Amino acid sequence: MLNLVLFGPPGAGKGTQAIYLARTFNLVHLSTGDLLRQEIAAQTDLGRIANEIISKGELVPDSIVISMIESKLKKPKTTVGFIFDGFPRTVPQAKALDDLLRKHHSKVSVMLCLEVEKEELIGRLFKRGLTSGRCDDADAATIENRINVYNEKTAPIISYYESQGKYHPIHGIGAVDEIAARLSDAVEEL
Ligand code: UDP
Ligand code: MG
Repeated sequence: MLNLVLFGPPGAGKGTQAIYLARTFNLVHLSTGDLLRQEIAAQTDLGRIANEIISKGELVPDSIVISMIESKLKKPKTTVGFIFDGFPRTVPQAKALDDLLRKHHSKVSVMLCLEVEKEELIGRLFKRGLTSGRCDDADAATIENRINVYNEKTAPIISYYESQGKYHPIHGIGAVDEIAARLSDAVEEL
């Protein structure tokens, strides 16, 4: 199985590029952010909890996102693989993903890390906020907090995958199709 972890700070372009990679390599796209937004739209209990956390730019607890991923991994038995977009977001989540995939006799193939500097991220998130209606893109303080949370809680995942020889940085600035080509070249080199 080909299992890609698409990693990077908020606004790095994970969602855009994950759709492209899923199509190119015929993978199931799993975005925990999208799944949480579906829960919010459906006004479920989980959605109400998630909305409060997401609108502050904080992280939904590990146990919640891990069990969302667990239930998705149980479903299709015939897939070529998965692309994980926006998950894992903490080192315990990365460890849990390894455990879950091991149970399915599989593993993370590579972690592709989209590298974009902070000023560019802030600009992109602001721009997205003008049209996305996403509460977490709406104001400067929330955007700033999301980037801080990324640096504190999410970025340590880089050394986790680096120690397994799976960390692969990708320059995340340029045209969408240029970045897409960088990503798919990296996958094909595996
Ligand atoms: N989120 C989370 N855990 C996840 C995925 C998303 O806590 O596994 C929350 C978090 O508050 C994050 C927001 O949902 O800021 C939006 O996530 P998404 O991955 O869609 O944002 P992106 O990084 O792509 O801008
Ligand atoms: Mg996203």
